[in-house]
Amino acid sequence: MRVTVLGSTGSIGASTLDVIARHPDRLAVHALSAHSRMELLAQQAARHRAPVVVVPDDAAGARFAAAWPDGAGAAPEIRVGAAALAATAADGESQAVMAAIVGAAGLPAALAAARAGKRVLLANKEALVAAGPVFMRAVREAGAELLPIDSEHNAIFQCLPHDGRAGAPAEPAAGVRRLLLTASGGPFRTRDWDDLHAVTPDQACAHPNWSMGRKISVDSATMFNKGLEVIEAHWLFAMPPERIEVLVHPQSVVHSLVEYEDGSVLAQLGQPDMRTPIAYGLGFPQRLASGVGPLDLARHGRLDFESPDPRRFPCLGLAFDALRAGQGACIALNAANEVAVDAFLRGRLGYTRIAALVDTVLQWQAGRRSDTLDTLDDVLALDEEARAYARGAGPA
Ligand code: NAD
Ligand code: MG
Repeated sequence: MRVTVLGSTGSIGASTLDVIARHPDRLAVHALSAHSRMELLAQQAARHRAPVVVVPDDAAGARFAAAWPDGAGAAPEIRVGAAALAATAADGESQAVMAAIVGAAGLPAALAAARAGKRVLLANKEALVAAGPVFMRAVREAGAELLPIDSEHNAIFQCLPHDGRAGAPAEPAAGVRRLLLTASGGPFRTRDWDDLHAVTPDQACAHPNWSMGRKISVDSATMFNKGLEVIEAHWLFAMPPERIEVLVHPQSVVHSLVEYEDGSVLAQLGQPDMRTPIAYGLGFPQRLASGVGPLDLARHGRLDFESPDPRRFPCLGLAFDALRAGQGACIALNAANEVAVDAFLRGRLGYTRIAALVDTVLQWQAGRRSDTLDTLDDVLALDEEARAYARGAGPA
């Protein structure tokens, strides 16, 4: 199987290439894409013999060409721009696409892969939050395979009954009562909200268990990430919000659980290493070695669980509110958070103002006449409007 990796220089992208390289007999790279770090992209393309790379603009293309290592043979074809990214995600040269761009910026290319009927390995949760109905319809209509890579959703997928197919279910799996999403609680799980005003980006990105990109690391600290994941679970598993629960589990060993009508609860456990869900997605329905070592439960000794504190994690409640309010609210929620987290990482917005800004933008969206959101263009237009409103309302 030939794989295109969108966002190959990121945390998920690098883990994906690590797994692919372990299976030269069955996996190969078609295209790699990155938005920055062209030197790293050149090293990756050389090592994995990628025939194609996609870069954002001509300047990046020139940096890529300059960084091409001596002795690495012919350089790959360089494709430029967002339209080329979506076209490459859809081209006939790969059968699977890892969607590992961060943010709604990854939506058009992920959707193009689904529309082309490919196996889509979905890490880019913001795409599904912004465009759940459009995305799931595309999967259904094109007969694409949709494999959740987010560890919680991958765990749930593994615990649900399925017949070797991975698609877009129209209703909750038979016999399932609830989905239980675990959350580590991030670096501020036990800190008082009133203590968090002066938190720095580096403190917020110091996740206790997972090593990830900076945006998702901040989302994990605020638990906005879990809010995105509730919406993601709603779309992936056709599950109504009242049947999705969040459970704080500081050790990140139980990656999520499925509760059945008969009282059975199935969980997937493992080390907190994204190569496990990535290998699952690449190999499905077979299991592939991922490089992740065995889980030593005796060494862990104990596993803890608690309910999330709504005062400490207001973003979680905002995400449930948005899911109940509808698609326009979900788009506004995600767009506002992307603006807020970017401003926080640049030192232009206080940590506790992230939730406040998201709340403000949700109220703005609720006051609008309802938008038609049937197409990708509809979604992107509201996303852009919500970003503009957030930029005006929030950061210094
Ligand atoms: P990252 O910041 O490490 O990498 C992001 C990648 O996207 C990079 O290759 C970057 O060049 C590219 N990119 C950024 N902006 C872009 C743009 N505007 N257009 C095109 N490409 C762009 O992020 P990550 O931690 O690897 O996360 C990627 C996605 O996977 C996110 O949606 C995240 O929520 C999700 N995810 C990550 C993890 C994890 O452990 N890191 C776990 C679950 C889900
Ligand atoms: Mg997750």
